[in-house]
Amino acid sequence: MSDTEPQVTRRETLRGRGLSLFSGGLDSQLAVCVLREQGVHVEAVLFTSPFFKNDAPVKAAEALGVKLHKMDFTDDILALVAHPPHGFGGALNPCIDCHALMIRRAGELMVKLGYDFVATGEVLNQRPMSQNRRSLDTVEKDAALGGRLLRPLSALLLETTTPEKEGLVTRELLLGLNGRSRKPQMELAARYGLREYPSPAGGCLLTESGFCRKLADLKEHDGFACVNLVWLLRTGRHFRLPGGAKCVLGRDARDNAELKKACGEADLLMHTVDVPGPTLLMPGGGAAEDVNLAAEMCAAYGDSKERPSVTVKITGCGRDENRAVSVRPRAFFVGWML
Ligand code: SF4
Repeated sequence: MSDTEPQVTRRETLRGRGLSLFSGGLDSQLAVCVLREQGVHVEAVLFTSPFFKNDAPVKAAEALGVKLHKMDFTDDILALVAHPPHGFGGALNPCIDCHALMIRRAGELMVKLGYDFVATGEVLNQRPMSQNRRSLDTVEKDAALGGRLLRPLSALLLETTTPEKEGLVTRELLLGLNGRSRKPQMELAARYGLREYPSPAGGCLLTESGFCRKLADLKEHDGFACVNLVWLLRTGRHFRLPGGAKCVLGRDARDNAELKKACGEADLLMHTVDVPGPTLLMPGGGAAEDVNLAAEMCAAYGDSKERPSVTVKITGCGRDENRAVSVRPRAFFVGWML
């Protein structure tokens, strides 16, 4: 046995175990790769909610061969969208608070599993608001992990963390990325053989203005107490009618099926009878005038071909209501679209 062998064995047993926040984006994949390259054991944490698109991260984790822990973040993110202590980004995205709370939640899992640290793919100054030095410090303070938050991609520009001090992670093998250029990440992606990754922030509906219009309307009229209404924002065209009722119109067969599935006890469901047309859902129903307008809308978006009237079937999902009305298809609804 050579002199160096025992030392290598000892270093291997000293390697840390970390949980890395995983969005599936390039930076989160690189954070896993950089840590794994130095022999650290890494598992990924994916947060789920009505606002996050999770297909891409699941596929990316499979491609990387990293174990994925899914954590439901719905209540947390809804509370932050209702009251974000550090405010919003460009849309309804409370990024600073969201990041801090995700890290805090991952920290709870770290303690439960007996792991050593939480990692993220944050890069210093990559985003002017949410990843400048002050924001990173705020996130670290609010996440309260006591030095166990590691940012492998910019670690060399930040304070030494506890796992580095404990020798569980080798600081010299971490990176010092800084700024908005994506070139170093592209080079690293090529080096690690990463080919597929979604665009930065592309996986979060809270950054999309069209989605946020619907979300702001829900916040104002109904609040976030009913999570099903939040999930519903992902399906169909949404309208707020003059009497205050909400209706959602299917855009295609998939939407129509989703709306039928989503129909709850207090809701009304409509579809055209004598012409092909969309399914329309009125969550919570509405006053007679709004119900009539919704039926006219359902007819207008159907294939009515200039017919003077169209029959619309109205079904009360949770009660014995099943009637057909004959309405005039009138296309004057655009101003009510969210
Ligand atoms: S983009 Fe969305 S998921 Fe990402 S930190 Fe901001 S609010 Fe959270």
